[in-house]
Amino acid sequence: MFRYLACLCSNSDFDCFHSRRWMVVKLALFAGLMVASPVFGQQLPVSSPPATSAPELKVFDPSLIDATVDPCDNFYQFSCKGWFKRNPLPADQTSYGRFTELYELNRLHLKQILEDASSASGTRQPNEQKIGDEYASCMDVAAINQKGIAPLQPELDRIAALKTKQELPALLAHLQTIGVSAFFGMGAAQDFADSASVIETYYASGLGLPERDYYTRTDAKSVEQRQQYVAHVSKILELAGESEAQAAKDARTVLEIETRLAQASLTVTEQRDPQNLNHPTDVATLTKELPNFSLTAYIAADRAPSSGKVNDTEPKFFAAFNSLVAESSLDQIKAYLRWHLLHAFAGTSLPQAFDQENWNFYSHTLNGAEKEQERWKRCTSRVDYELGEALGQVYVSRYFPPEEKQRTLAMTLAIEQAMDKDIGSLDWMSAETKVRAKEKLHGVMNKIGYPDKWRDYSTLTIVRGDALGNQIRVQEFNHARDMAKIGKPVDKGEWEMTPPTVNAYYDPQQNNVNFPAGYLQPPFFSGKEDDAANYGDMGSTVGHELTHGFDDEGRQFDATGNLKNWWTKDDELKFTDRADCMVKQYDAIESVPGVHLNGKLTLGENLADLGGLWLAWLAWQDKAHAAHLDLTAKMDGYTPEQRFWIAYAQQWCTQTRQEDLRSRALTDPHAPDEYRTNAILQDLPEFAKSFSCKAPAKMVSPKPCRVW
Ligand SMILES: [Zn+2]
Repeated sequence: MFRYLACLCSNSDFDCFHSRRWMVVKLALFAGLMVASPVFGQQLPVSSPPATSAPELKVFDPSLIDATVDPCDNFYQFSCKGWFKRNPLPADQTSYGRFTELYELNRLHLKQILEDASSASGTRQPNEQKIGDEYASCMDVAAINQKGIAPLQPELDRIAALKTKQELPALLAHLQTIGVSAFFGMGAAQDFADSASVIETYYASGLGLPERDYYTRTDAKSVEQRQQYVAHVSKILELAGESEAQAAKDARTVLEIETRLAQASLTVTEQRDPQNLNHPTDVATLTKELPNFSLTAYIAADRAPSSGKVNDTEPKFFAAFNSLVAESSLDQIKAYLRWHLLHAFAGTSLPQAFDQENWNFYSHTLNGAEKEQERWKRCTSRVDYELGEALGQVYVSRYFPPEEKQRTLAMTLAIEQAMDKDIGSLDWMSAETKVRAKEKLHGVMNKIGYPDKWRDYSTLTIVRGDALGNQIRVQEFNHARDMAKIGKPVDKGEWEMTPPTVNAYYDPQQNNVNFPAGYLQPPFFSGKEDDAANYGDMGSTVGHELTHGFDDEGRQFDATGNLKNWWTKDDELKFTDRADCMVKQYDAIESVPGVHLNGKLTLGENLADLGGLWLAWLAWQDKAHAAHLDLTAKMDGYTPEQRFWIAYAQQWCTQTRQEDLRSRALTDPHAPDEYRTNAILQDLPEFAKSFSCKAPAKMVSPKPCRVW
């Protein structure tokens, strides 16, 4: 399953970056309308939350402020320096901020739920058995080590048995079914032109490095990273039994094949334009375009229903793939498939030596982590990814009371109202486009906390003590679910994130905003704190997600989620002109020495940050005026307006390793948290007024950008 989403951040476990790239989204979730059917979601016993010794997290926290820093010079340091002092970067993290702080707390809660489920005596509910046994299987390192590579041997044998290239389509289809991302991907996705229907979608994939530019950049660091990658692939192949010489040769082949795939793929910036990914065709035409690879055999083995219409998201990539099949030897193809098979299972399903090498390259070499995360943390994340709605159901019952859902909904409605007013008052947009914009705004569906209908896992078998087998069965289950969607109407009640996720997203093809329960917690939202704090923090996120509907990508989709232009030519030019101001603003930022941010890649997120904070401010001002709030009354030394801005800034307090900052600058559509604070606030004169900042102070932009 593939989605085209705009996420709040890239800090938590949910891989927004890869979902944007049309890689297989790791979380395949369920759901739909509120149906009180016993078939959906076997209820787990609900118990009260265990006491934790973690410190209380606050939305506005005066103890995090360093008043020796001038707020007009560096508001991020002013708001966060106390937090930085208190929170040195943990050795097992590549970046640690308030999102991770909550993420770690949520993870402790999930651990408790999983330990309860795995040690429960007597008869367990089906979902309780699944989450408990999957957690126990992942934690049982001794059993995993003892089995060695044996559980994967049948799959290695299948690859070894490949006799001709004519057999490749069926083999590749099988490998993809069990979660191996070799060559390309195919799955169910919403039709860009008809948001009500789901069609077969083919997309570029097959890389072991994070994204295509890792293969094409020529700077010294990138050349070194590719050498380190070859060494890593070689090591993994050796662990699976290849001789040193053979593994080294195969690893070079892997890099060659992947480089050719990468060269033919769109860049991350090109992928931001949905028009670049919309190439409707049909199976017959695509079959003709791939003479070296039988699509008929592939589809038959992939158990995909033939719906007729398909989307070939990257025709240039598939042409290159077709040539690659002809020009590679059978041995080269087998080496490439072996690597991707091992790569898919190297995390928590294969013996420790694989796990260690996997961490060494992906977390340490590429992103600078100094210590591997504890096993329980990774196993908790694994169960959240595999069985997120079974686990999430218990999480919600313990940590997300119904009144929190109501409070978030009220805030969301207030911010939508503010956006309605704001669109009406824009001086650059014509009346005609305003009507369409409001139509889109009024069509937004608000999804808060968790799905109305829980996913049904009844056909999935989880066996205690079989970590690798479980991973395969989960992938097959997800694949079957995905294939079953093709040709059917879109289910807009489905969630792409699990309930405990510390993140949020806007889905442009469904025109809905999604706020998981895991995010609707302190330090982002608290029933104990006042509106100034909550609107500055959570309110800005609600505004952020809403603004995604109107950013450089989102604005190309209409109220029902169709990729259809609703702008007049003149308004489009004015929008682009205003957006260019932000492209230039972020292009000028040097994130790490020698690496600038990419203004075009981060445009959507930057527009959402600026628009979102502005909308939260408008909504809160309206509320404060209606309640005759005394705007001069200080609390903890700060006025309500000042606390609004500080709460906004404090959500972004984050420490990040240089390696991670570097790779994010190249790949992440989100700007680093420091700029999500300072660059955004520099564009808002209302902020400068609250702190009496005057030009030429750094926090006052001489030419502020403003779109929404
Ligand atoms: Zn976003």
